[in-house]
Amino acid sequence: ADVAMYAAKNTDGAVSLYDSAHDAHNPRRLAMITELGAAIRGSQLVVYFQPRLALQEGHWCSSEALVRWQHPRLGFIPPGEFVQFAETSELIRPLTLWVARQAVMQLAAWHQAGLQVSVSVNLATRNLLDVTLPEALLSLLQEFNVPPGSLELEITETALMNDPERALQVVNHIASLGMRLSIDDFGTGYSSLAYLKRLPLHSLKIDRSFVRDMLIDDQDAIIVRSTIGLAHSLGLQVVAEGVEDLDTLARLREYGCDEAQGYVLSKPQPAAIAGITMQTPPPGDYA
Ligand code: C2E
Ligand code: MG
Ligand code: MG
Ligand code: MG
Repeated sequence: ADVAMYAAKNTDGAVSLYDSAHDAHNPRRLAMITELGAAIRGSQLVVYFQPRLALQEGHWCSSEALVRWQHPRLGFIPPGEFVQFAETSELIRPLTLWVARQAVMQLAAWHQAGLQVSVSVNLATRNLLDVTLPEALLSLLQEFNVPPGSLELEITETALMNDPERALQVVNHIASLGMRLSIDDFGTGYSSLAYLKRLPLHSLKIDRSFVRDMLIDDQDAIIVRSTIGLAHSLGLQVVAEGVEDLDTLARLREYGCDEAQGYVLSKPQPAAIAGITMQTPPPGDYA
C-alpha cells in the first residue's frame, strides 16, 4: 500500500491536501489554494499544446493540452504544483472544462485551417466520479462543431482505480458519445489488465520513465517493446511519452510504436506558436 501511495503521488501529481503543517504555512501554497478559483474564472490560466507525431507516417496527428498558471505575483506555475488543489475541491470540474474549452476552440481553428488533427485533455481522479462531465464535454464539441472523435481524454490508472466501478460508468459514457480515451503514464499505476480490458480505450501512453532510458537499460527496452505488443494485441494505439532524442525516436519506430510525444519534437507551446511550428515537419531523420 505504501508503494502504491508513493507511485500515485509521483505519477498523477494529484493526491490530496493531507500534507504537514509546514506546508499549510507555506505562503506560495496558501496563495495557490486561495486564488485558484479566481484564476480559473479570470484569465490567469493558459493552455499550452504539445504535438504528437504519427511515427510510421511521419506527420503531426494530435496535440495534448497542458495547463499553466500565469500568476500575477508568483509567475509561471506548472500544473504539477496547482492541479492538486483543484483536484481536492469543487474546482476540478471548472478547471477541466476550462482547459477542454480552450482545447476544443483550438481544435476548431486547426480544422478550419484544414489540419486534420485531434487534441487530448487530461482528466483528474475526481473527474471520473463526475457523471455529468461526459455531457458537458459533448456540449462543448457541439458548440464549436467539432466531431467527438477528435477529442481524446487522458486518464491515469491511478485515477481509475480510485473507484473502478464509477469510473467505468463515466468512461463508458464518454466513449459512447464518440470521444476517445487513453491511459496516461501507462506502467506507473497499479491497474490490472483484467480491468483495463473492460475499458473502451483507444490508446496507451507509455510513461516517460520507461522511454527515457530504453536505449541504455535493457529492462526498460523490454517493457517498452512488450507494452507495444500487448497494446497492439488488444487493438490499441501506442504513444511513447517524453521522447528526448532522435535515437530513441528511431528505435520506437522500429519497435512499431504508433505515435511519439516529447521534447525532441517540441516542448508544450502556446497554441499560436504550436500551430505555426507544426505546419512544417519537425527536424530529424526519424523516418
Ligand atoms: P502528463 O499528462 O503525463 O503530461 C506530460 C508532461 O510531461 C508535461 O508536463 C510535459 O511538458 C512533460 N513532457 C513532455 N515531453 C517531455 C520530455 O521529452 N521530457 C520531459 N522531461 N518532460 C516532457 P506538464 O505540462 O508540466 O504537466 C505535468 C502533469 O500535470 C501532466 O502529466 C498531467 O498529469 C498534469 N496536467 C497538465 N495539464 C492538466 C490539466 O489540464 N488537467 C489535469 N487534470 N492535469 C493536468
Ligand atoms: Mg497527459
Ligand atoms: Mg503522461
Ligand atoms: Mg505524467
